[in-house]
Amino acid sequence: MTGSNFFNTKIEFLKGVGPMRAELLQKELSIFTYGDLIQHYPFRYLDRTQFYKVAELDESMPYVQVRGRIRGKEVIGEGRKQRLAATLVDENGDQLELVWFKGVKWMEKSLKNHTDYIVFGKPTEFNGRFSMAHPELEELAEEKQTTSFLQPVYNTTEKLKAHRIDSKVIAKMMEHLLKVALPQVQESLSPELIETYKLMDKRSAYANIHFPESADKYNKAKFRLKFEELFYIQLRLFRQKVVRKADLKGQVFNQVPTLNEFYKNHMTFDLTGAQKRVVKEIYGDLTAGKQMNRLLQGDVGSGKTIVAFITMLIAADNGAQSVLMAPTEILADQHYVGLRAFADRLGINLGKLTGSTKAKDRKVLHEQLRSGEMKMIVGTHALLEDVVQFQNLGLCIVDEQHRFGVEQRSKLWRKNPRIIPHVLVMTATPIPRTLAMTLYGDLDVSVIDEMPAGRKEIVTVHRFDSHRLRVFQFVRDQIKLGRQVYIVYPLIEESEQMENYKDLMDGYESIKRAFPEYQVSMVHGKLKSQDKDYEMQRFVKNETQIMVATTVIEVGVNVPNASVMIIESAERFGLSQLHQLRGRVGRGAEQSYCILMTGYKLSKDSKTRLETMVRTNNGFEIADIDLKLRGPGDLMGTQQSGVLDLLIADLAKDAPILQEARAAAQRVLHQDPQLEQPEHANIRRHIQSLSANTVNWSRIS
Ligand code: ADP
Ligand code: MG
Repeated sequence: MTGSNFFNTKIEFLKGVGPMRAELLQKELSIFTYGDLIQHYPFRYLDRTQFYKVAELDESMPYVQVRGRIRGKEVIGEGRKQRLAATLVDENGDQLELVWFKGVKWMEKSLKNHTDYIVFGKPTEFNGRFSMAHPELEELAEEKQTTSFLQPVYNTTEKLKAHRIDSKVIAKMMEHLLKVALPQVQESLSPELIETYKLMDKRSAYANIHFPESADKYNKAKFRLKFEELFYIQLRLFRQKVVRKADLKGQVFNQVPTLNEFYKNHMTFDLTGAQKRVVKEIYGDLTAGKQMNRLLQGDVGSGKTIVAFITMLIAADNGAQSVLMAPTEILADQHYVGLRAFADRLGINLGKLTGSTKAKDRKVLHEQLRSGEMKMIVGTHALLEDVVQFQNLGLCIVDEQHRFGVEQRSKLWRKNPRIIPHVLVMTATPIPRTLAMTLYGDLDVSVIDEMPAGRKEIVTVHRFDSHRLRVFQFVRDQIKLGRQVYIVYPLIEESEQMENYKDLMDGYESIKRAFPEYQVSMVHGKLKSQDKDYEMQRFVKNETQIMVATTVIEVGVNVPNASVMIIESAERFGLSQLHQLRGRVGRGAEQSYCILMTGYKLSKDSKTRLETMVRTNNGFEIADIDLKLRGPGDLMGTQQSGVLDLLIADLAKDAPILQEARAAAQRVLHQDPQLEQPEHANIRRHIQSLSANTVNWSRIS
């Protein structure tokens, strides 16, 4: 076996693994093959030169390494409350308490008294004493004849540890693997790229990422592997784009009589500069004879609806039908209402199709769509059903696309068998440039980065729970002025850790008690959709003044009269999520407010999030900070994207490498679109091995 075949060898055949451990590695870490294991990179390294003294510790430190001797250990408490406490004394004689709540018995047995250890963990302070919960441990005496400058620390899980597969055991497996695997490693980048970007060769990179021989080699290995990872993602995205540009014809929409009439007689406001620019970009696509595939980003309230309508109008002017698909019924309703406001002025037949559309109404809709009598339709997944057929579907607009899977979307495209419809994806989640480049490298991107004139900035404040009475008084004053109020709680969770948080039900009861004179609605994810709609509608109609909700109201809901957004336990929300929630207010003419409620105890990150919210309303700035705080995997709208399961690159930090990898991918494809030239043989072979190996391929597709 050579090359990529070798890396498909099942992990159980590796020395020191076997069937039992193989099963655990598969279940816990998705490591199936040699190739998977070699790409299980250390998440950090033990640096033998960096130790802290207990006296130097500080709660703001993320993770630290301390060296000392165990002086006493003790199991405290009974049953589930049981914990193991041990005392580590450093060379100055200062004490650090180590605590375990899980695996107490096993730790008690294996932790050796009067023995020197290196411990690694997050220090926390209580009454002037520092402790560390579940630290990683390394017995000093065990320190071996390692040639490695840095010692790898591998990700494991509780379950793996319980079966004695800890980081050290994985390191041992890795040693065995590298011995047999390194000679099989084939270069996957072209000589030209290696030369241009001064890249370490792949074999050395694998060796040094696991067992660095020096700081310099470690850095080169890391750069090389990150570059490669990002290069192949970009290459793939560019190839898709090239394929589409070359092959996919689109209907030409160059007639705009109704649009002109709309502009002349029915517009009640001027488009912002950003809206005009975006409409121009879209019109350019629609007249080019190629299929449009465009992402439209715009902060909440930036005016995407009118842009969507104008695009649909252009389609209609050219005899084509268009759909706007939303992820939820509530959102579909809102879009319907928003588009109706424009369509009605022109007497355009606009339909709505959702799960709750009655059978007899459906029949009419189906017929009108098939005959072409209905030009525009808004809806949910219901639009995807096979019975929904069009005379000539020319445009698909998808809102908040991250909620739809790729297959779902392609179902829509296939509803025009003659020629693939134009596609406009709209999102209110501002995505930082680095992320957009990676996630949507295959889409063209338009951004509405300007708010309609006269919009009042939302005033955002942070208040502690102890100020609740004053906050409630403020709410009362606002309602007296005729406004409505949202109060948002974190999700309902029954799990124990959550019990410290006021959940929605408690909140609802206490709000009803605090405001007996007003009507209160409640919406959450566990409600049936018709109950949710009923409650929502009561609020929309101003029959209720207060809406108590979970984050289900986060996307798209539009009640212009609601001017106050209170977010409870705001420290539990991510930054982008807070910003989305805040976007529910500030939609009318009145001054709007967002009040972030928290307790006094806040982590540093929570403080940063709250301060950012108070300081700025700019969604892109917020998205950037969020990316830095959390890393891209957690960002809203990106959870479903396999692209972000990066093995080593980090989009929050590696923007410069991404730029280079992107430029490199572009250049390679420009020179050699089919990758046929001999100097690209390595690249071609690597792509083939990726597509042969489904496990790997799924990671980046
Ligand atoms: P979103 O981008 O969040 O979907 P909407 O399209 O719902 O934003 O627009 C928010 C509000 O701003 C709507 O009431 C809309 O009519 C209004 N609006 C949109 N564009 C403009 C504009 N150029 N000038 C004034 N108001 C506008
Ligand atoms: Mg909208």
